[in-house]
Amino acid sequence: MSRIETRCVQGGYRPGNGEPRQIPIIQSTTFRYDTSEDMGRLFDLQAEGYFYSRLQNPTCDTVAARICELEGGTAAMLTGSGQAANFYAVFNIANAGDHVVASSAIYGGTYNLFAVTMKKMGIDFTFVSPDCTEEELDAAFRPNTKALFGETIANPALCVLDIEMFASAAHRHGVPLIVDNTFATPVNCRPFEWGADIVTHSTTKYMDGHGSAVGGCIVDSGRFDWDAHAEKYPGLTEPDESYHGVVYTRQFGKEKAFITKATSQLMRDFGSVQSPQSAFLLGIGLESLHVRMQRHCESAQRIAEYLAGHEKVAWVRYCGLKGDKYHERAMKYLPGGSCGVISFGVKGGRKAAEEFMKRLKVAAIETHVADARTCCLHPASATHRQMSDEELEAAGVSPDLVRLSVGLESAEDLIEDLAQALG
Ligand SMILES: *Cc1c(COP(=O)(O)O)cnc(C)c1O
Repeated sequence: MSRIETRCVQGGYRPGNGEPRQIPIIQSTTFRYDTSEDMGRLFDLQAEGYFYSRLQNPTCDTVAARICELEGGTAAMLTGSGQAANFYAVFNIANAGDHVVASSAIYGGTYNLFAVTMKKMGIDFTFVSPDCTEEELDAAFRPNTKALFGETIANPALCVLDIEMFASAAHRHGVPLIVDNTFATPVNCRPFEWGADIVTHSTTKYMDGHGSAVGGCIVDSGRFDWDAHAEKYPGLTEPDESYHGVVYTRQFGKEKAFITKATSQLMRDFGSVQSPQSAFLLGIGLESLHVRMQRHCESAQRIAEYLAGHEKVAWVRYCGLKGDKYHERAMKYLPGGSCGVISFGVKGGRKAAEEFMKRLKVAAIETHVADARTCCLHPASATHRQMSDEELEAAGVSPDLVRLSVGLESAEDLIEDLAQALG
């Protein structure tokens, strides 16, 4: 089952004779055992199985396995949100006193998580431009750097990450590259094929696809050799006293060590689980992901071209446009399409952007992107409002930027709506 379309529909779940065709919702907090010894083996990570849904749940694991197949990874876990996925992915390998290098063009929530909240936990971040040179990237690393982080397609700046260049810099410095692949989805880009080591998702976006459930996912490529950099990653390569001295890389190999540690320590202690109901909805979303992504991209391309030719539009950013700064990179990393999100500036700046948005009838104003219904947002007055002008600039967000998430409605209806709102 090698093709992505088939993996979307059937990946991760192969029912046996007489078993449910659809992934069952196991809506149970706990699981029953005959003996305390049986349960003890699970607590010691000596046997696989379920005992409490804060740690693991069969529905969530099945859907995680589907995403794992889509990305081509070796292990995956669902989380309660994309925020939790990015937090866990970094905190699993970085502690107080450590340092992480991240692209500055990332989701506002992730920027805040890194620059404010994780900084309070004692982890330092250096932000680099997604368009930096190799030398600039190298210069950002320190002896205590534990990871490099970026987004395949940045939300909302829509910069395309040079994944190969970032991966080789990470590996030169003996750390993994973590890529948030939310906007591209594995249908349009599989970062592991370009050298990334860990992939994260806000499944809230295209994967769910219908704006129905908040969720996240972490996938491990299984390729990063933690033992080769053991002094940097004692959490994975030395005994975990909270599990009777388990050494994750020894017991689970490099294929499963990262996800097992994140599940058994971070999920145990922070508990940002996805509910089985939400995981079920996510599983249904994944079944049509390949079909939806194609339509999102086709319509977005038409609309980006329309906006680019409109006299009231100052600029358009969509990597599918020939003149776009990221077009060439998109041809390499996203040959089949990028995503349904376009950003553009309305002539007249902030005020004109707000007026334009009020006049839209089909597209709605929402703090969301990447679902079936077209929506738009003015980041400078919403998601990014805590940022200074300089930080906005670094994140690639100008004050007049409107983020338009093209849904699955008729592209003609959407173009007519934009036309009347632009006036
Ligand atoms: C939305 C988003 C997140 C955060 O995900 P939530 O599910 O809202 O917590 C992280 N990264 C990217 C790229 C996003 O678009």
